[in-house]
Amino acid sequence: MIDFEFTPIMKMAKEFTHNYARDVMRPIARKYDEEEHVEPTEFIQKTHEMFRSLGFSFSTANASGDKEEKSEHKEKHERPKMEMNLLGAIAIEEIAWGCPGLTLRIPGPGLGGAAIMAAGTPEQKKRFMKILNGPKPSYGAMALTEPGFGSDASAVATTAVKDGDYYIINGTKIFVTGGDMADLYVVWATLGKDLGRAGIKAFVIEKGTPGLKMARLEHKLGIRASDTAEVVLEDCRVHKDNLLGGEKKEEKGFKGAMQTFDATRPMVAAMAIGIARSAYDYVYEDFVVKNGLEINYGKPLHKRGYIETVLEDMEAKISAARLLTWKAAWMLDHSLPNLKEASMAKAKAGTVVDEITQKAIELYGPEGYSRRHLLEKWMRDAKVYDVFEGTGQIQRLVVARAILDYTRKELK
Ligand SMILES: Cc1cc2nc3c(=O)[nH]c(=O)nc-3n(C[C@H](O)[C@H](O)[C@H](O)COP(=O)(O)OP(=O)(O)OC[C@H]3O[C@@H](n4cnc5c(N)ncnc54)[C@H](O)[C@@H]3O)c2cc1C
Repeated sequence: MIDFEFTPIMKMAKEFTHNYARDVMRPIARKYDEEEHVEPTEFIQKTHEMFRSLGFSFSTANASGDKEEKSEHKEKHERPKMEMNLLGAIAIEEIAWGCPGLTLRIPGPGLGGAAIMAAGTPEQKKRFMKILNGPKPSYGAMALTEPGFGSDASAVATTAVKDGDYYIINGTKIFVTGGDMADLYVVWATLGKDLGRAGIKAFVIEKGTPGLKMARLEHKLGIRASDTAEVVLEDCRVHKDNLLGGEKKEEKGFKGAMQTFDATRPMVAAMAIGIARSAYDYVYEDFVVKNGLEINYGKPLHKRGYIETVLEDMEAKISAARLLTWKAAWMLDHSLPNLKEASMAKAKAGTVVDEITQKAIELYGPEGYSRRHLLEKWMRDAKVYDVFEGTGQIQRLVVARAILDYTRKELK
């Protein structure tokens, strides 16, 4: 049975992360939006130390977790001791409420770490997570997108050619989140176009490996505190032990790496909800609290003011997106396949955050357009949540395939 009752740890995590977002992130959100490409060094170090002292890392929340513990609980129909994905979704909503760009600067396993946890061998998980969860702030990036494609992952053109115990990797990756600060990159490459999807593999490449270069940083519309980079690979030699999932044919490979998104999409959706809530809270504080008003939910439609109606609509949309997100995260915690639910959550949250941030600006008129408020920043930050980790159209395609029971070939 689905149970979203907060455990004491969840309550504590929500309160703690909210306070951190309010006291540490909000005050510097505008600065790092305006000073794009300036590293928030102090914030990175402070946040790393804070999460380390608590023994929590966002992206371990994405991890597949302790399978034995999970299956034991499943059999007993009990709630697992720690629902790490649900906990992660609750916490990351609060953190993104503080500033979504800075959220993506928080050290930890990141998307790269999530891919390692989804498709790595036990040895690889141990080896690379030691780096990503180590005493020094570090980050794992995922480099899939190329100049020739984004949505269609099977179009990977970066090549990996076997040379003894090594693979030689050549290609260009674009829009890599954390591409500058990353300590390791999960790079997708093909062993040969003729092999199709089966030939697509993910390689873990550590920063400093000869042939791997951060070529340039992107100038962006929103989430400007986050470093988004182009990464070039020129005759980059990578040991076969770094091939995610190992060399054996039966290992998960492409499919395994794609499963990364089952874990990361609910987290991305939770971030979008955090931004939507920033805008909602701002409007609520200014229009309702400061004016001593109260929203009367029982009033019939014709007796309500415009602000009441708008706020109720916003609330309903946020709640719908949040419930989808929590369900997708909860399913992962309970070892249930959540491909459809993860995409539903991402599609819904990506739309809701756009609608709510734009509506908030509309309510404020020219004030909303001004940089005196963070409203215009939230609107810019919001847009990417319907782009990265799969666009809204791609999420809807995944959901449609799952509902109609169509294959990729049948529904493109
Ligand atoms: C700020 C930012 C950070 C990013 N971070 C990363 C990262 O860390 N790692 C990484 O690998 N990538 C990253 N990306 C890339 C992102 O994942 C891609 O941009 C995204 O997947 C879309 O790919 P595309 O840009 O090539 O668009 P395309 O695939 O060319 O799509 C263009 C448009 O066509 C639509 N479309 C495409 N195919 C279909 C279809 N079959 N049916 C209906 N509509 C379709 C899309 O929805 C989109 O609207 C990032 C992008 C941004 C902007």
